Amino acid sequence: MALEQYHGDMKMCCRCSACKFIPMQRVKGADYSYVCPSISRYKFHSYSGGGRVNIGAAMLEKGFNYTDKLLHIVYNCQMCGACDISCKYAMDMEVLLPINEFRIKCVEDGHTHPALDKVINSLRKQGTMVPGARGKRAAWAEGLGLKDATKEKVEVYYHVGCLASYDKDMQKLAKATVKILKKAGVNFGIGYENETCCGGRAFQMGYKEDFLNQARKNMEMLKKAGVKTLVTGCADGYQAFKVLYDKYNLKGDLEVLHITELMARLIKEGKLKLNKKVNLNVTYHDPCYLGRLGEPWIHWEGKKVPGDRFVFDPPKTYRRGTHGVYEPPRDVLKSIPGVKLAEMTRIKEYSWCCGAGGGVNESNPEFAEWTAQKRIEEAVSTGAEAIVSACPWCEKTFNEAIKESESSLKVHDIVELVEKAI
Ligand code: SF4
Ligand code: SF4
Repeated sequence: MALEQYHGDMKMCCRCSACKFIPMQRVKGADYSYVCPSISRYKFHSYSGGGRVNIGAAMLEKGFNYTDKLLHIVYNCQMCGACDISCKYAMDMEVLLPINEFRIKCVEDGHTHPALDKVINSLRKQGTMVPGARGKRAAWAEGLGLKDATKEKVEVYYHVGCLASYDKDMQKLAKATVKILKKAGVNFGIGYENETCCGGRAFQMGYKEDFLNQARKNMEMLKKAGVKTLVTGCADGYQAFKVLYDKYNLKGDLEVLHITELMARLIKEGKLKLNKKVNLNVTYHDPCYLGRLGEPWIHWEGKKVPGDRFVFDPPKTYRRGTHGVYEPPRDVLKSIPGVKLAEMTRIKEYSWCCGAGGGVNESNPEFAEWTAQKRIEEAVSTGAEAIVSACPWCEKTFNEAIKESESSLKVHDIVELVEKAI
């Protein structure tokens, strides 16, 4: 859908600024009331969800004028979707979708960001969002004797993802996942060198055609291999396979699970037993693309009935972030003996982004780190010893921010704690 399709949504914005905060009814204090990293950092309306849709509507009406200031606004947004969910607490209108289309338009009109171009060049050349990645994608799996899902039938295909495949500090997550799946007796395999990037982060950055290329390649490979169920530990990968592929009618009947969903299921069925004590007070960070943006896509066909306040016929169901993956990770954490969970203020659909989304990690690392720092402060305020997430991009961003701070907070992915408990 092009930006024009959202002209009505963008015009509906009443400039109430609700998209900057968690909904009033849930605010517990001034400290953790903001949800949008961009407006919190840059403190000018154009950097909020509302400001962005106001700009989109104005440009559609008066023409696109790509100034440096405009591009600074465009590329300093994590595409985290918090504005969209807060707005929809009261409104029936899309906010993130037009913001995303605006990015896509910038890229199509040639107004890209050099740091993001570098990442996309890596994607085009090597099929990974980790620039400078060397060697084989599945080098981390050497000696583990894993099945090649493209050569033999397996029940579950494990999509490892770019970061856990190539990043030396994150390969531990792929290894932990393998140990857990083996322990639970899951018949699984990986794609070895046939695995390629899901394309999700390219989409967030505005490179829609690159995303579609990756999606088509992946689905062709998975269909050929007869894969019915895919599991991944990456929140961006999960959202790409589950939501974006569905949006573009590419997913078919593939079952897409996040590793937290599969682990919660295996624990419930008694196939995964967590019996070693892990004494740790933790707080859980909901990754944006597993939580609010992991909510399934809702297909809708009909017509817009024009008017000052347009309506849809048949009525359109809005995605309000309530059907993201929230309980499985919490259920898994509560199943680990010795782990105590304390919640932060901004959780589930109102979670604060880790900072890495939308290519901000690459386009403005200082802003990504600032955003992560704010989350670390919130985590520390719960009294937790560790912040636990369920996506390698979050762990990497939090680790980088902690290195620059004096905080003694530990950072873990949920699979690391489960690995300790088996
Ligand atoms: S985007 Fe929604 S919440 Fe934000 S100012 Fe506009 S109407 Fe209000
Ligand atoms: S997507 Fe996230 S960073 Fe961008 S405007 Fe909305 S809340 Fe702010």
